[in-house]
Amino acid sequence: MLIVMHKNAARAEVDNVVAAVEARGCTARPIPGGDRVSIAILYNQGAVEPGWFSGMPGVKETIAVTRPYKLVSREMHPHDTVIRVGNIEIGGRYPVIMAGPCAVESRDQAMTIAGHVKKAGAHIFRGGAFKPRTSPYSFQGMEEEGLKVLAEVRGRFDLPIVTEVMDIAHFDMVEAYADIIQIGTRNMQNFSLLKRAGESEKPVLLKRGMSATVDEWLMAAEYIMSRGNTGIILCERGIRTFVRHSRNTLDLSAVPVVRRESHLPVIVDPSHAAGFRDQVMPLARAACAAGAQGLMVEVHHAPETAVSDGAQSLLPDQFARLCKDIRAISRILEPGPGKEQVAP
Ligand code: PEP
Ligand code: MN
Repeated sequence: MLIVMHKNAARAEVDNVVAAVEARGCTARPIPGGDRVSIAILYNQGAVEPGWFSGMPGVKETIAVTRPYKLVSREMHPHDTVIRVGNIEIGGRYPVIMAGPCAVESRDQAMTIAGHVKKAGAHIFRGGAFKPRTSPYSFQGMEEEGLKVLAEVRGRFDLPIVTEVMDIAHFDMVEAYADIIQIGTRNMQNFSLLKRAGESEKPVLLKRGMSATVDEWLMAAEYIMSRGNTGIILCERGIRTFVRHSRNTLDLSAVPVVRRESHLPVIVDPSHAAGFRDQVMPLARAACAAGAQGLMVEVHHAPETAVSDGAQSLLPDQFARLCKDIRAISRILEPGPGKEQVAP
């Protein structure tokens, strides 16, 4: 349940309601809004009666939250959450573009690709230093050496870094280097990892599990937020279906659903959805048109030599073209005098 306080409710009235909720054995989480405070009731074991609180001084209304997720729901926080990383906004007015190789393979490879994506207008650099691979015999990532290369990319190109953490053992290390910590599709329901991410002060990019429903995905975000981290970016990356013409099936319908249900920014990764380069651009354009607030795209200057996901990586000139298309789509959706977000 959500208890919405009057605009002019006094601090003491908010405190009283919090005490009344806690006296019922539940946890009260006050959420400051633009002009009023709402109080979320969390961890209630049974039904909560609206009448317990609706007559209390300062209470405007009580809203039954029927969804399993609370903190991430739009009912709880009606306005879009905007996450700031440096001077880049995620979930703001303009789409954010994260781009780079699947894996950091070498210093030269990362620097070359970073130069291309920066020039094309990417806002954030991606690259895996810890790689979740289907085969234990495939390249597993450069680990800390890769993180150091990413830190160098950040310094040289002024691009914030998003990179994946695969397990708790490496969390502190990845957290120290990354600007945004990625949790991949295979770990979306790794609850101990989600709890640890909830204790971080860095934003978390949470990919949708390849077989997860939207509710399960939002509940994974709820795990992170219930530990105090409100900086969560949701990333749709395709779900597993029976089709064979693409690696996964991009579930674009999830974009408007998540935007309706949650205040968190949602972006799309067309690369892992498609699996093939020729599908990436159309899916990316469609994602933005469907309301995605950004993209995560794999780019490689020599994809035939890539140690992972070369087949789905865009060539630098294709990526540059995509950035232009995305800016054009965003101008159609957001007409007006505003400038698009410029790369830092
Ligand atoms: C990735 O982005 O590097 C990745 C492995 O993606 P996913 O978790 O979506 O498969
Ligand atoms: Mn990849």
